[in-house]
Amino acid sequence: MKMENNFGMIFNIQKFSINDGPGIRTVVFFKGCTLKCTGCANPESQEPRLQILWNEKKCLHCNTCVMSCPTLAVKNLEGKIKVNHELCSGAGVCSERGICIEKCPAHALKSEGERKTVDEILKIVMQDIDFYEESGGGVTLSGGEVLIQHEFAVKLLKALKEKNIHTAIETTGFSSPAIFQRVIEYLDLILFDIKHWDEKKHKEKTGVSNLPILKNMKYAIDIGKEVLPRLPVIPNYNNSIDDAKNFVLRLEEVGAKRVQLLPFHQFGENKYNLLGRKYDFTDVKALHAEDLKDFQKIFLDNEIEAFF
Ligand code: SF4
Ligand code: SF4
Repeated sequence: MKMENNFGMIFNIQKFSINDGPGIRTVVFFKGCTLKCTGCANPESQEPRLQILWNEKKCLHCNTCVMSCPTLAVKNLEGKIKVNHELCSGAGVCSERGICIEKCPAHALKSEGERKTVDEILKIVMQDIDFYEESGGGVTLSGGEVLIQHEFAVKLLKALKEKNIHTAIETTGFSSPAIFQRVIEYLDLILFDIKHWDEKKHKEKTGVSNLPILKNMKYAIDIGKEVLPRLPVIPNYNNSIDDAKNFVLRLEEVGAKRVQLLPFHQFGENKYNLLGRKYDFTDVKALHAEDLKDFQKIFLDNEIEAFF
Protein backbone atom coordinates (compact mmCIF):
# COMPACT_ATOMS: atom_id res chain seq x y z
CA MET A 1 0.00 0.00 0.00
CA LYS A 2 1.37 3.41 -0.95
CA MET A 3 0.77 5.89 1.83
CA GLU A 4 2.65 8.83 3.28
CA ASN A 5 5.00 7.35 5.88
CA ASN A 6 3.98 9.91 8.46
CA PHE A 7 0.51 8.45 8.61
CA GLY A 8 -0.83 4.96 9.04
CA MET A 9 -4.34 3.93 8.03
CA ILE A 10 -5.66 2.51 11.29
CA PHE A 11 -9.12 1.07 11.80
CA ASN A 12 -9.16 0.50 15.56
CA ILE A 13 -7.10 0.87 18.73
CA GLN A 14 -8.27 -1.59 21.35
CA LYS A 15 -7.18 -1.24 24.96
CA PHE A 16 -7.02 -3.87 27.71
CA SER A 17 -6.67 -6.81 25.36
CA ILE A 18 -5.50 -10.07 26.95
CA ASN A 19 -5.57 -12.39 23.92
CA ASP A 20 -2.93 -10.88 21.68
CA GLY A 21 0.32 -11.56 23.49
CA PRO A 22 1.39 -11.57 27.14
CA GLY A 23 -0.18 -9.38 29.83
CA ILE A 24 -2.50 -6.46 29.28
CA ARG A 25 -2.02 -4.95 25.85
CA THR A 26 -3.15 -2.23 23.50
CA VAL A 27 -3.81 -3.56 20.01
CA VAL A 28 -3.36 -1.22 17.04
CA PHE A 29 -5.25 -2.49 14.00
CA PHE A 30 -3.77 -1.59 10.61
CA LYS A 31 -6.15 -1.38 7.66
CA GLY A 32 -5.47 -3.25 4.41
CA CYS A 33 -4.47 -6.82 3.72
CA THR A 34 -2.76 -8.66 0.87
CA LEU A 35 -4.64 -11.87 1.61
CA LYS A 36 -8.30 -12.08 0.70
CA CYS A 37 -9.45 -14.74 3.15
CA THR A 38 -13.11 -15.61 2.78
CA GLY A 39 -14.62 -15.52 6.26
CA CYS A 40 -12.06 -13.05 7.67
CA ALA A 41 -13.20 -12.03 11.18
CA ASN A 42 -12.34 -8.40 10.39
CA PRO A 43 -13.60 -7.86 6.83
CA GLU A 44 -13.45 -4.09 7.32
CA SER A 45 -9.67 -4.51 7.62
CA GLN A 46 -9.13 -6.00 4.16
CA GLU A 47 -9.50 -2.85 2.08
CA PRO A 48 -6.55 -0.44 2.56
CA ARG A 49 -8.60 2.70 2.10
CA LEU A 50 -11.29 4.23 4.25
CA GLN A 51 -14.76 2.68 3.80
CA ILE A 52 -18.28 3.87 4.54
CA LEU A 53 -20.47 1.28 6.29
CA TRP A 54 -24.27 1.34 5.97
CA ASN A 55 -26.58 -0.01 8.67
CA GLU A 56 -29.77 -1.09 6.91
CA LYS A 57 -31.69 -1.49 10.17
CA LYS A 58 -31.21 2.19 11.09
CA CYS A 59 -31.72 3.62 7.59
CA LEU A 60 -34.82 5.81 6.93
CA HIS A 61 -34.34 5.61 3.14
CA CYS A 62 -34.44 9.42 2.94
CA ASN A 63 -31.65 9.60 0.30
CA THR A 64 -29.97 12.55 2.02
CA CYS A 65 -26.63 10.78 1.66
CA VAL A 66 -27.19 10.21 -2.06
CA MET A 67 -28.00 13.86 -2.66
CA SER A 68 -25.27 15.32 -0.46
CA CYS A 69 -22.21 13.41 -1.68
CA PRO A 70 -20.10 15.81 -3.77
CA THR A 71 -18.45 13.03 -5.77
CA LEU A 72 -21.68 11.11 -6.55
CA ALA A 73 -20.23 8.09 -4.79
CA VAL A 74 -23.45 7.18 -2.96
CA LYS A 75 -26.29 5.45 -4.77
CA ASN A 76 -29.61 3.98 -3.68
CA LEU A 77 -29.89 0.72 -5.58
CA GLU A 78 -33.28 -0.87 -5.05
CA GLY A 79 -33.50 0.35 -1.47
CA LYS A 80 -29.91 -0.47 -0.58
CA ILE A 81 -27.38 2.31 -0.03
CA LYS A 82 -24.15 1.53 -1.88
CA VAL A 83 -20.96 3.59 -1.73
CA ASN A 84 -18.58 3.40 -4.67
CA HIS A 85 -15.27 3.64 -2.83
CA GLU A 86 -13.44 4.34 -6.10
CA LEU A 87 -15.33 7.65 -6.25
CA CYS A 88 -15.41 8.50 -2.52
CA SER A 89 -12.79 11.10 -1.64
CA GLY A 90 -13.04 9.97 1.97
CA ALA A 91 -14.09 11.33 5.32
CA GLY A 92 -11.53 13.90 6.39
CA VAL A 93 -11.32 15.05 2.76
CA CYS A 94 -14.88 15.96 1.63
CA SER A 95 -15.50 17.09 5.24
CA GLU A 96 -14.11 16.16 8.65
CA ARG A 97 -16.26 13.04 9.20
CA GLY A 98 -17.65 12.70 5.67
CA ILE A 99 -20.61 14.76 4.45
CA CYS A 100 -22.82 11.68 4.04
CA ILE A 101 -22.14 10.60 7.62
CA GLU A 102 -22.64 14.06 9.07
CA LYS A 103 -25.94 14.61 7.24
CA CYS A 104 -27.50 11.19 7.82
CA PRO A 105 -30.42 11.85 10.22
CA ALA A 106 -30.47 8.24 11.44
CA HIS A 107 -26.76 7.69 12.14
CA ALA A 108 -26.95 4.81 9.70
CA LEU A 109 -23.52 5.50 8.15
CA LYS A 110 -20.09 5.35 9.68
CA SER A 111 -16.55 5.34 8.36
CA GLU A 112 -14.03 2.61 8.90
CA GLY A 113 -10.40 3.71 8.93
CA GLU A 114 -8.53 6.80 10.10
CA ARG A 115 -5.16 8.32 9.25
CA LYS A 116 -3.06 8.51 12.39
CA THR A 117 0.48 9.66 13.15
CA VAL A 118 2.97 7.82 15.36
CA ASP A 119 2.58 10.54 17.98
CA GLU A 120 -1.20 10.22 18.00
CA ILE A 121 -0.97 6.47 18.53
CA LEU A 122 1.75 6.81 21.18
CA LYS A 123 -0.39 9.24 23.12
CA ILE A 124 -3.15 6.62 23.39
CA VAL A 125 -0.77 3.74 24.06
CA MET A 126 1.10 5.55 26.85
CA GLN A 127 -2.10 6.06 28.85
CA ASP A 128 -1.81 2.42 29.95
CA ILE A 129 1.93 2.18 30.60
CA ASP A 130 1.33 1.24 34.25
CA PHE A 131 -0.82 -1.72 33.21
CA TYR A 132 1.84 -2.96 30.79
CA GLU A 133 4.50 -2.75 33.48
CA GLU A 134 2.43 -4.51 36.13
CA SER A 135 1.15 -7.30 33.85
CA GLY A 136 4.15 -7.83 31.57
CA GLY A 137 2.06 -6.55 28.67
CA GLY A 138 2.69 -4.07 25.89
CA VAL A 139 1.51 -3.24 22.39
CA THR A 140 0.44 -5.57 19.58
CA LEU A 141 0.19 -4.47 15.95
CA SER A 142 -2.59 -6.30 14.15
CA GLY A 143 -4.81 -5.91 11.12
CA GLY A 144 -5.48 -6.32 8.31
CA GLU A 145 -1.86 -6.91 7.56
CA VAL A 146 0.70 -4.68 9.23
CA LEU A 147 3.41 -5.56 6.71
CA ILE A 148 1.71 -3.70 3.84
CA GLN A 149 2.23 -0.45 5.81
CA HIS A 150 5.72 -1.56 6.77
CA GLU A 151 7.40 1.84 6.73
CA PHE A 152 4.86 3.28 9.13
CA ALA A 153 5.00 0.11 11.23
CA VAL A 154 8.79 0.43 11.61
CA LYS A 155 8.43 4.06 12.73
CA LEU A 156 5.81 3.11 15.30
CA LEU A 157 7.77 0.09 16.56
CA LYS A 158 10.96 2.14 16.92
CA ALA A 159 9.06 4.72 18.96
CA LEU A 160 7.61 1.96 21.18
CA LYS A 161 11.04 0.42 21.74
CA GLU A 162 12.42 3.83 22.69
CA LYS A 163 9.81 3.80 25.48
CA ASN A 164 10.89 0.27 26.40
CA ILE A 165 7.49 -1.23 25.58
CA HIS A 166 7.10 -4.94 24.74
CA THR A 167 6.10 -5.25 21.07
CA ALA A 168 4.18 -8.00 19.30
CA ILE A 169 2.64 -8.45 15.87
CA GLU A 170 -0.25 -10.54 14.56
CA THR A 171 0.67 -11.21 10.96
CA THR A 172 0.02 -13.43 7.99
CA GLY A 173 3.77 -13.19 7.39
CA PHE A 174 3.11 -12.66 3.70
CA SER A 175 5.71 -10.20 2.41
CA SER A 176 9.13 -10.07 0.78
CA PRO A 177 11.95 -11.32 3.05
CA ALA A 178 13.49 -7.81 3.04
CA ILE A 179 10.34 -6.14 4.41
CA PHE A 180 9.69 -8.91 6.92
CA GLN A 181 13.25 -8.84 8.24
CA ARG A 182 13.22 -5.07 8.62
CA VAL A 183 9.98 -5.07 10.64
CA ILE A 184 10.79 -7.96 12.96
CA GLU A 185 14.00 -6.25 14.08
CA TYR A 186 11.80 -4.23 16.46
CA LEU A 187 9.54 -7.06 17.63
CA ASP A 188 9.67 -9.17 20.78
CA LEU A 189 6.95 -11.63 19.72
CA ILE A 190 5.54 -12.72 16.36
CA LEU A 191 2.06 -14.29 16.26
CA PHE A 192 1.99 -15.96 12.87
CA ASP A 193 -1.31 -17.05 11.27
CA ILE A 194 -1.06 -20.04 8.98
CA LYS A 195 -4.26 -21.03 7.16
CA HIS A 196 -3.26 -24.23 5.35
CA TRP A 197 -0.27 -26.57 5.03
CA ASP A 198 -1.01 -27.20 1.34
CA GLU A 199 -0.02 -24.44 -1.10
CA LYS A 200 -2.95 -25.03 -3.48
CA LYS A 201 -5.55 -25.03 -0.71
CA HIS A 202 -3.93 -22.00 0.88
CA LYS A 203 -4.29 -20.14 -2.41
CA GLU A 204 -7.95 -21.21 -2.73
CA LYS A 205 -9.04 -19.41 0.46
CA THR A 206 -6.50 -16.60 0.70
CA GLY A 207 -5.47 -15.85 -2.88
CA VAL A 208 -1.75 -16.29 -2.12
CA SER A 209 0.85 -19.03 -1.73
CA ASN A 210 1.91 -20.17 1.73
CA LEU A 211 5.57 -20.56 0.69
CA PRO A 212 6.76 -16.99 1.45
CA ILE A 213 4.93 -17.22 4.79
CA LEU A 214 6.67 -20.45 5.79
CA LYS A 215 10.01 -19.07 4.61
CA ASN A 216 9.61 -15.94 6.74
CA MET A 217 8.50 -18.01 9.72
CA LYS A 218 11.58 -20.21 9.43
CA TYR A 219 13.83 -17.15 9.23
CA ALA A 220 12.32 -15.64 12.38
CA ILE A 221 12.72 -18.90 14.30
CA ASP A 222 16.27 -19.42 12.99
CA ILE A 223 17.42 -16.02 14.27
CA GLY A 224 15.92 -16.72 17.70
CA LYS A 225 12.80 -14.55 17.63
CA GLU A 226 9.91 -15.65 19.81
CA VAL A 227 7.38 -17.02 17.33
CA LEU A 228 3.91 -18.43 17.96
CA PRO A 229 2.27 -20.02 14.89
CA ARG A 230 -1.53 -19.82 15.09
CA LEU A 231 -3.82 -22.07 13.15
CA PRO A 232 -7.46 -21.09 12.54
CA VAL A 233 -9.15 -24.51 12.33
CA ILE A 234 -11.99 -24.34 9.78
CA PRO A 235 -14.52 -27.14 9.14
CA ASN A 236 -14.17 -28.89 5.78
CA TYR A 237 -11.04 -26.90 5.00
CA ASN A 238 -8.17 -27.79 7.31
CA ASN A 239 -9.66 -29.74 10.24
CA SER A 240 -9.07 -33.39 9.27
CA ILE A 241 -6.61 -35.69 11.02
CA ASP A 242 -4.65 -35.81 7.77
CA ASP A 243 -4.46 -32.00 7.84
CA ALA A 244 -3.13 -32.12 11.40
CA LYS A 245 -0.40 -34.59 10.37
CA ASN A 246 0.64 -32.38 7.46
CA PHE A 247 0.61 -29.25 9.63
CA VAL A 248 2.99 -31.08 11.98
CA LEU A 249 5.37 -31.70 9.06
CA ARG A 250 5.31 -28.02 8.06
CA LEU A 251 5.92 -26.89 11.65
CA GLU A 252 8.81 -29.32 11.96
CA GLU A 253 10.30 -28.00 8.70
CA VAL A 254 10.35 -24.44 10.04
CA GLY A 255 11.49 -25.47 13.51
CA ALA A 256 8.34 -24.49 15.44
CA LYS A 257 7.83 -26.21 18.79
CA ARG A 258 4.34 -24.95 19.59
CA VAL A 259 1.10 -23.89 17.93
CA GLN A 260 -2.08 -22.18 19.05
CA LEU A 261 -5.27 -23.72 17.66
CA LEU A 262 -8.07 -21.22 16.96
CA PRO A 263 -11.41 -23.04 16.54
CA PHE A 264 -13.64 -21.52 13.83
CA HIS A 265 -16.29 -19.02 14.94
CA GLN A 266 -18.63 -16.60 13.16
CA PHE A 267 -17.72 -13.41 15.04
CA GLY A 268 -17.33 -11.34 11.87
CA GLU A 269 -20.67 -12.22 10.28
CA ASN A 270 -22.53 -8.99 11.14
CA LYS A 271 -19.70 -6.89 9.72
CA TYR A 272 -20.25 -8.50 6.30
CA ASN A 273 -23.86 -7.28 6.41
CA LEU A 274 -22.74 -3.73 7.23
CA LEU A 275 -20.25 -3.79 4.36
CA GLY A 276 -22.92 -5.11 1.98
CA ARG A 277 -20.87 -8.28 1.39
CA LYS A 278 -21.88 -11.92 1.32
CA TYR A 279 -20.69 -14.09 4.20
CA ASP A 280 -19.77 -17.59 2.99
CA PHE A 281 -19.79 -19.30 6.40
CA THR A 282 -23.34 -18.66 7.66
CA ASP A 283 -24.22 -22.36 7.66
CA VAL A 284 -20.85 -23.59 8.93
CA LYS A 285 -20.93 -24.92 12.48
CA ALA A 286 -18.67 -23.15 15.00
CA LEU A 287 -15.95 -25.32 16.56
CA HIS A 288 -14.93 -25.57 20.21
CA ALA A 289 -11.81 -26.89 21.90
CA GLU A 290 -13.60 -30.13 22.82
CA ASP A 291 -14.33 -30.78 19.11
CA LEU A 292 -10.62 -30.70 18.36
CA LYS A 293 -9.16 -33.09 20.93
CA ASP A 294 -8.13 -35.68 18.29
CA PHE A 295 -6.76 -32.92 16.07
CA GLN A 296 -4.76 -31.48 18.97
CA LYS A 297 -3.45 -34.94 19.94
CA ILE A 298 -1.62 -35.30 16.60
CA PHE A 299 0.52 -32.28 17.48
CA LEU A 300 1.09 -33.36 21.07
CA ASP A 301 2.10 -36.88 19.94
CA ASN A 302 4.76 -35.24 17.77
CA GLU A 303 6.11 -33.09 20.61
CA ILE A 304 4.56 -29.87 19.36
CA GLU A 305 2.87 -28.05 22.20
CA ALA A 306 -0.65 -27.42 20.84
CA PHE A 307 -3.03 -25.32 22.92
CA PHE A 308 -6.16 -23.20 22.59
S1 SF4 B 1 -17.31 10.44 2.63
FE1 SF4 B 1 -17.74 12.21 1.33
S2 SF4 B 1 -17.09 11.61 -0.73
FE2 SF4 B 1 -17.25 9.74 0.51
S3 SF4 B 1 -19.29 8.94 0.11
FE3 SF4 B 1 -19.44 10.23 1.95
S4 SF4 B 1 -19.98 12.28 1.15
FE4 SF4 B 1 -19.27 11.08 -0.58
S1 SF4 C 1 -28.98 9.60 4.81
FE1 SF4 C 1 -28.93 7.89 6.30
S2 SF4 C 1 -31.08 7.42 6.64
FE2 SF4 C 1 -31.00 8.62 4.76
S3 SF4 C 1 -30.83 7.08 3.11
FE3 SF4 C 1 -28.76 7.67 3.67
S4 SF4 C 1 -28.14 6.14 5.16
FE4 SF4 C 1 -30.35 6.03 5.05
